[in-house]
Amino acid sequence: DAEGRLERLAALPLRENLRGATPYGAPQIDVPIQLNVNENTHPLPDSVRDAILRGVEGTLDTLNRYPDREFTTLRASLARYLGHGLDADHLWAANGSNEVLQQLLQAFAGPGRTLMSFPPTYSMYPLLASGTDTRYIAGTREPDFTLTPDAAAAQVRAEAPDVVIVCSPNNPTGTSTGLDVVEAVYAATEQTRSMVIVDEAYVEFAHTGTPSALRLLPGRERLVVSRTMSKAFGMAGTRLGYLAAAPEVTDALRLVRLPYHLSAVTQAVALGALTHADALLATVEDIKAQRDRIVAGLDRLGLTPTPSDANFVLFGPLRDATAVWHGLLDAGVIIRDIGLHGRLRVSAGTEAETTAFLDRMRELVDAGV
Ligand code: PMP
Repeated sequence: DAEGRLERLAALPLRENLRGATPYGAPQIDVPIQLNVNENTHPLPDSVRDAILRGVEGTLDTLNRYPDREFTTLRASLARYLGHGLDADHLWAANGSNEVLQQLLQAFAGPGRTLMSFPPTYSMYPLLASGTDTRYIAGTREPDFTLTPDAAAAQVRAEAPDVVIVCSPNNPTGTSTGLDVVEAVYAATEQTRSMVIVDEAYVEFAHTGTPSALRLLPGRERLVVSRTMSKAFGMAGTRLGYLAAAPEVTDALRLVRLPYHLSAVTQAVALGALTHADALLATVEDIKAQRDRIVAGLDRLGLTPTPSDANFVLFGPLRDATAVWHGLLDAGVIIRDIGLHGRLRVSAGTEAETTAFLDRMRELVDAGV
């Protein structure tokens, strides 16, 4: 039983900072409309499927060999996608941006060091900290979830963390952080020489004209911009995250990565997809439109959505968020309870999925839930 299992876990010589911890756990429930983990719910276009199949087939003859440890072709392809004058030397990749972030903490944080970010933000940051024996420091945001350059810089100066993560657009609020904030945080770490990571997992969904922190990289050797193919590219199952930084940052990561950490199959799938980036990213405009529909729809229902630059929307506070979550699940729609004072987060789906969500929300509001 579960209790005996917990006791047996406690009897193991587990590291102190993992005692009593809970694993990352968005529920995986098989319902028709899954809007709970910010995936791209559109299927892969046929042209991309074919390119991926050919790429994977091409790995079969050498699957008895270890893959290219340096994933050189993939790094060049990611650099081409990012532009901004970047080349393969500036690029690094791993199994999801979660692993990219973990490697960054392995190299630049760890025992006796600290990681700071600004909650409410991505729930994995504190877990990645405890997994690497890093002390986590929770900064704060304005009541509307924005972050100002002065407030962010003052907090960073006061805490002097070894690593700072600024998530932009921020999960779970959808809030973009201006480049002036990143510049101010970076300037505030001039003395401590801390690493500054901008997590841009959702940046492709930002409203037109919202700039990426990639443009701040030249001359900032402690700045890292993290990206993923899990969201806009619609390839969460591939597990491919990447970053752009000064070449010496990627050299630091070579010291902690496991040998051959990116499988030949992963490299081939990602490369196949990148050669068809335009077709893959064609769904982004539709997702942005659905995101805007959710904001407008929830606003009309009086449910106070937070303005979003991502593919999801945070709304509430609700009188009874748990009842709303269950009311949606009863209709085959799963969204996310991120444990934030009566607020819920919904990912933008296809037009039909988004309509089903909004229709059910109207029913629930009409029923007084
Ligand atoms: N950063 C943020 C802000 C996220 O929300 C997520 C996924 N939910 C990730 C990173 C990690 O994504 P992945 O490992 O699939 O690249």
